[in-house]
Amino acid sequence: MAKTAIKPVGIDLGTTFSVIAHLDAAGRPATILNAEGDIITPSVLFFDGDLVIVGKEAVKAAIHEPELSVAFMKREMGSSVFSRVINGKKYPPEVLQSYVLKKLKADAELKLGQVKPAVITVPAFFDDPRRKGTQDAGQIAGLEVLNVINEPTAAAIAYGVQEGFLNSKGESERTERVLVYDLGGGTFDVTLMEIDGKSYKAIATDGDVYLGGVDWDHRIVDVAATAFLKKHGGKDPRKDPSALTRWLHEAEEVKRALSAREHTNFTCDFDDKKLRVAITREQFEELTADLLERTRFTVSSLISEAGISASKITRLLLVGGSTRMPMVKKMLQEEFGRAPDQSLSADEAVAHGAAIYAGLLLATGQGATPTVTVRNVNSHTLGVLGIEKSTGRNVNQVIVPRNTALPVSKVSRFQTAKAGQRSVVANVIEGGDLSGNNATRIGKCTIKDLPPDLPAGTPVDVAFAYSDSGRLTVRARLPTLGIGAVLVIERASGLSEQQVKQWGDVVGSSKGPLELNED
Ligand code: ADP
Ligand code: MG
Repeated sequence: MAKTAIKPVGIDLGTTFSVIAHLDAAGRPATILNAEGDIITPSVLFFDGDLVIVGKEAVKAAIHEPELSVAFMKREMGSSVFSRVINGKKYPPEVLQSYVLKKLKADAELKLGQVKPAVITVPAFFDDPRRKGTQDAGQIAGLEVLNVINEPTAAAIAYGVQEGFLNSKGESERTERVLVYDLGGGTFDVTLMEIDGKSYKAIATDGDVYLGGVDWDHRIVDVAATAFLKKHGGKDPRKDPSALTRWLHEAEEVKRALSAREHTNFTCDFDDKKLRVAITREQFEELTADLLERTRFTVSSLISEAGISASKITRLLLVGGSTRMPMVKKMLQEEFGRAPDQSLSADEAVAHGAAIYAGLLLATGQGATPTVTVRNVNSHTLGVLGIEKSTGRNVNQVIVPRNTALPVSKVSRFQTAKAGQRSVVANVIEGGDLSGNNATRIGKCTIKDLPPDLPAGTPVDVAFAYSDSGRLTVRARLPTLGIGAVLVIERASGLSEQQVKQWGDVVGSSKGPLELNED
C-alpha cells in the first residue's frame, strides 16, 4: 500500500477498556471491532509463557492465575518506580501499555491494512511524564504517534461534529460551554470546554487518577466479604488474590445489573463455601455516596476556579462507562438543575474524537485548511525548584500556572548561587506546593562548563515552551554571557530513546524481555 493511502486511527487507551476508531469513506468516525468482534477491548494482559494475551481472554485467564496478569497499568504510566515483575522479569508500564496498543493495531489491520499514524488519548490531568510515557508506548507498539489529545477534548470534538450543533461549515452557531464529566474504570476527569465556531478551547480541567468504577466494585466486595465472614468465619476472601479477582468480577456484574434494575444478588464462593446476598440500588448508592461526592466536589471547585456560574454551562456531556450508573445522572441533575446530555456513546466518543483529530492533523500536514482548532490548558503548575537566598529553603518558582491556555512560552530569571560556579542546574517540577513538596520531578536542565570566575548572582534565564499537546521543552541561558549551550532535558523518569527502541524490538517480535538496571 502506498504511504499516502495509510489512514490514521484514533485510540482511546483506557484504564480498563480501550477502543480504536478510524474515519470511514465518508469521513465519519467509526469504531473498528476487535478480533473478538467487540467495540471495547479490556486493557488487561496475561503472560502465557512468551506470549502476551490481551483483552477478554486475558481477563478470563487472570481469574485463575492473577500473578501472570496485569491490569490498571495506565495508573502507573510515566512513573519511575513502578515496574511490574512477571516470570521474574521487570516490565515498565509503557511496555505493558504497548501490548494493548499492539493488539488494537493488529486487529485494526485485519480490516484496514497497515495501521501506523495514530492519535492516542490521555486524561486531561496527565502530567508531562505520563504523556511522554503514552507516546513511548505507541512507538514501542510500532505506531507513529501524531500527537496525544486530551480525552475530554476528543469527546467534545466527537460531540460537536456528530451531534449537529455545528452548521454545514462545521462551526457552532453560538458559543457552547460544555462540561465533560468522564468517569471511567479507574480514573475521573472533568473539563470545562468552550466551543466557538470551529475552535475547541479547554478552560479548566481537574481529575483524580485514583477514582473510577473499580472503587465502586470494591465497595460491593467489602459488603459481600463482611457477610461471608459473618456467615462462615475463616479466611477473608479479599486476602486471596484469585478469590479477590473473581469477587471483583462478580461485583462488577452486580454493579452493571443495578444500573438497569433496582435489586440483584451477589453470588460467589470461597473455600468451598457459598455466599448469596441481596443488594438493592439504594444500598449500593449509600455504600458509594462518598465516592460520588468526590466527583461532585471536583466539579464544583472546577467551576468556581474557572470563574463561571453553573448557569452559563450550556451542555453537560457524560463520557465513560461508569456514567451509566443512575446516581451520576441524578447528582448532576441536582447540581445543575438540568439533565445531562446522553446522545454520545459513552464508550466510543473519545476514540471517535481522536480519529477526527488524527485525520485533521494528517490533512493539515498535507496543506489542507484546518476544520477544527484545539486549545488546551495545562492541568498542573510548572516550575523550577529554586533556593531562597536569605533562608536557604527550597522554593517552587511557578513559571506556568495551572489552567493556562496552551501553547505557552514563559521565561523566568534566576541567578547563580555562588562565585566560581561551573555549572547550573534547573530542576523542573510539575504540581506541588510552594516549597515543591508533592511535585513530580520532570527532569533537569543543566548548563555545564561555565567560565571559571563567574561572580555569584550571575543571571540565568529558564524558558519553558509548553506545546498544545502538553509536552514541555526547557531551555536555560546565561544572558550576560550569551551562553547558548545546547540543552537537553534529562528526564527524571520514563524510558530513554534507546530503551524505547529496544523494547520496540521485543514487543514487536515477542522475544523475551530486556533487563532493567537498578537506578
Ligand atoms: P476507562 O476509560 O477508564 O478504561 P471506561 O470508560 O471504559 O473506562 O469505563 C469502564 C467502567 O465503566 C468500568 O468500571 C465498568 O464497570 C463501568 N461500567 C460499564 N458499564 C456500566 C454499567 N452499565 N453500569 C455501571 N458501570 C458500568
Ligand atoms: Mg476512558
